Amino acid sequence: MSDRDTIFALSSGRPPAAIAVVRMSGPHAQQGLQALIGHVPEPRRATLAKLRDSDRDVLDEGLALWLPGPRSETGQDMAELHLHGGRAVVAAVLAALGRLDGFRPAEPGEFTRRAFENGRLDLTAVEGLGDLISAETEAQRRQAFRQLKGWLGGRAETWRSRLIEALALVEARIDFSDEADVPADLMGPALDIARGLLEEIGRALADDRRGERLRDGLVVAIAGPPNAGKSSLFNRIAGRDAAIVSPYAGTTRDVIEVHLDLDGFPVTVLDTAGVRTTDDPLEREGVRRAVARAEGADLVLWVVEPLELAPAGGAASVSAPVWTVENKVDLLAGGQAAGEGGERVGRWFAVSALTGFGIDELTREVGAYAKACFSGGEPALVTRERHRAALHDTVQGLDRALAEGAGGREDIVAEELRLAARALGRLTGRVDVNDVLDVIFRDFCIGK
Ligand code: GDP
Repeated sequence: MSDRDTIFALSSGRPPAAIAVVRMSGPHAQQGLQALIGHVPEPRRATLAKLRDSDRDVLDEGLALWLPGPRSETGQDMAELHLHGGRAVVAAVLAALGRLDGFRPAEPGEFTRRAFENGRLDLTAVEGLGDLISAETEAQRRQAFRQLKGWLGGRAETWRSRLIEALALVEARIDFSDEADVPADLMGPALDIARGLLEEIGRALADDRRGERLRDGLVVAIAGPPNAGKSSLFNRIAGRDAAIVSPYAGTTRDVIEVHLDLDGFPVTVLDTAGVRTTDDPLEREGVRRAVARAEGADLVLWVVEPLELAPAGGAASVSAPVWTVENKVDLLAGGQAAGEGGERVGRWFAVSALTGFGIDELTREVGAYAKACFSGGEPALVTRERHRAALHDTVQGLDRALAEGAGGREDIVAEELRLAARALGRLTGRVDVNDVLDVIFRDFCIGK
């Protein structure tokens, strides 16, 4: 895959659609325009033009844009064609581009990769862009947009330049220790910088994983004994028939999930298989996976039959809060009241998955819980495990440098500060990131 190829792709959604946007990026973008519309329009001005094949057949009429580098998205020469979004129109234009010398179809994420390689976006911005495209809720959109605009990247660069300042002080001490005009104490100020950074980065890390959780959505597991009505409740909450409801115990063999937007906050609800002991190996596997998923959940809704408020024993190993949901309250005879079956532990809701009673309130409370988890304080800087790992490495380097102390060995302090700076460089993609690039760009679609 060479940067010298001119890449092209349909960047808008799958046809048919009102409009289709085909983009190209690379050194031959200008020739691409010349070949298709017969001229190169003024830079950055939309121009109405007829697109023609090499035998002068008109393919379509649309808008053409000439976006010369380096002030383009990829940093290279680019062009955009806004076409009628029909399948045959798009196919004909892509085929015409494919016949041009030096042109080839883009790989997934290749436009963005070029933007990264040409210094138009740092790695945290690339990730923000990916998240913006997959954002499903308002809160996710805001977080992704912040990252695209350098929320973490800018901070990391500031931290890195301060670290390099500290490193320069220590290195000056090493290099010129014999010379009279180098102040003897350069270590003290260097370590002061390190201490300040350690404190700031430590604060960014102590965020309860808010950013990562917002990306994934708050995970709510519906669990409880077989036949309590978990799948029915799941369907009610999901508002559609996503899980198979059956009158026989143990039919939910796998984990089924639905993504909800509750007041702008993302919530992923899991329907877990009936948590119980069983001899059926297939079902046992379902149970194992259900337990594993529920254990990683942020909130567990423990569904029980009416009047069975037995403590949520099956959820004992879960560290997340457990709310008891007493289901089937429509079955209660007159005189019986929900919640009479035993001691109420934690939050408790009376619902009927059958009639829908109490479901709105339960959903509202889950939404409020999600909002409380994701809001408050400064927006999260760390939004991916990769960020956390890099900052963690930075902190470790700083810790070890500080452990040496002002009277410690300068070469060791310098080395630790260098390692810390390198970890920050990995965060923004300035240094040794080749191994992670493929992973990051793999999640992009073609044309982005
Ligand atoms: P799961 O094994 O916990 O997932 O339970 P299901 O959702 O499959 O439900 C078990 C049985 O209880 C089914 O026959 C449902 O129709 C029934 N059921 C579920 N919720 C209610 C409810 O609120 N009221 C009544 N009367 N029956 C319910």
